[in-house]
Amino acid sequence: MFNHLSQFAKIVHFISTRKGGVSAAPFDSLNVSFSVGDLPENVLENRRILAESVGIALENCIIPQLCHGTNIEIVRVGDRGRGVFSPENAFKETDGFITNVPEICLWVTSADCTPVFFYDPEKQVVAMAHAGWKGTLAEIAAKTALKMHTDFACNLAEIRVGIGTSIGACCYEVSKELAEKFSTAFGEKVVSVKENTSYYLDLWEANWIQLEKIGILSQHIEVSNICTACNTDLYYSFRKENGNTGRFCAGIYLKA
Ligand SMILES: [Zn+2]
Repeated sequence: MFNHLSQFAKIVHFISTRKGGVSAAPFDSLNVSFSVGDLPENVLENRRILAESVGIALENCIIPQLCHGTNIEIVRVGDRGRGVFSPENAFKETDGFITNVPEICLWVTSADCTPVFFYDPEKQVVAMAHAGWKGTLAEIAAKTALKMHTDFACNLAEIRVGIGTSIGACCYEVSKELAEKFSTAFGEKVVSVKENTSYYLDLWEANWIQLEKIGILSQHIEVSNICTACNTDLYYSFRKENGNTGRFCAGIYLKA
């Protein structure tokens, strides 16, 4: 977990691993997604196991259907449980979630994409964003922080950010075209070139740069530095496992 977020007694944050669940291969074992082909009863049991382990009632979570976009929603009391027991009533086409309501846990599922955590200890507001390459390029993380500012009067200089476990620059090979889009948007630092022909993207750095640019203090940003593709014993990696895998999840909530 993030050291700087762990200092705050009023929040709980977590990134699950693939260990400790009931699903069989290739979803073994703590898959929390209904949309990967796993048995729904196993997914539900895994969600229960995870919620219990982080001290929240499962019906107080929200588990959205993500779309790699930049829509951001405010999560309110009546949204509790959306997407938890069925995808039918989940938030759809939304990749950023903000709340100031205690005991609502914001979950973001992932298998390579970067979950980004936000906490404003002054205003007691938490948020989560889901940033794969599309969301990172479209600056979902920066937009989430800016919405915390506009909708909850959060001071950007107070917001703490955790850039979570996802595919790292060690493993995330992309096309030259995509690499160029990223270096144009965020500078040369976010791309590394190997043997003149292979391009690797650093999503962590690209998220960091966009957050610093809008006024998040660098000392308030922490990166987990754990690559999903290097660690498929612990995490799911869509890329490394050729799409045939489960999803782990990242979450945050304010304690009552
Ligand atoms: Zn790696």
